[in-house]
Amino acid sequence: MKKDAELRAAVLKAVAEAIFRHAEDLTALDQAIGDGDHGINMKRGFEAVMAESAALVEKPWPEFLKAAGMILVMKVGGASGPLFGTLFMSLGRELPAEPAGADVAKALAAAIKAVQARGKSEPGQKTMLDVLVPVAAELERDARDLDRVVAVAAESAEATRGMKAIRGRASFLGERSVGHVDPGARSSALMIEAIAGVLKEAA
Ligand code: ADP
Ligand code: MG
Repeated sequence: MKKDAELRAAVLKAVAEAIFRHAEDLTALDQAIGDGDHGINMKRGFEAVMAESAALVEKPWPEFLKAAGMILVMKVGGASGPLFGTLFMSLGRELPAEPAGADVAKALAAAIKAVQARGKSEPGQKTMLDVLVPVAAELERDARDLDRVVAVAAESAEATRGMKAIRGRASFLGERSVGHVDPGARSSALMIEAIAGVLKEAA
């Protein structure tokens, strides 16, 4: 395996394992303000991606991300599949074949716009965007300080606790959604932490 393929394999494995390890917590968060399937949805999606892992990691970064995103769209039920799928597919479309830190910041900002268009959503509505947007801003500020990026992701997920849901199923609860962390925000933070962990080791 080439070095880049090894990195893709390590990133994918770390993300999938983080989701598998936290599937029950993610489901518990979704039980509080949704329909209790977020962990199940994400686990199903990443099991399907892992089943194709050997072929996927041989593709260059843009095709790898597009293919993984497509699997998530097809295999994950619920709102999160199409939205995370859109995120990864758009990242694939935006990134050059050999991306550097600045490319990732720019591509993530563009991919977030695609998620917002698909979800008709914006930050502040207690969704995955409340982690993705501050992480993109932090990457733009300094794409090398991965510890800081991970801290921003974790703090931002936690900060959704105080928000009232305006989009997604949790919005049906109105004020009663306040006091609970958003499941998609938490899974976003978990994925970012997993990716940063691998990139730090590889650096
Ligand atoms: P469902 O809500 O269909 O059961 P999941 O439980 O898998 O799907 O995912 C719920 C998560 O999806 C929420 O916690 C939120 O972060 C995210 N989400 C839902 N709707 C939107 C939206 N319109 N824009 C952005 N994120 C959204
Ligand atoms: Mg759900």
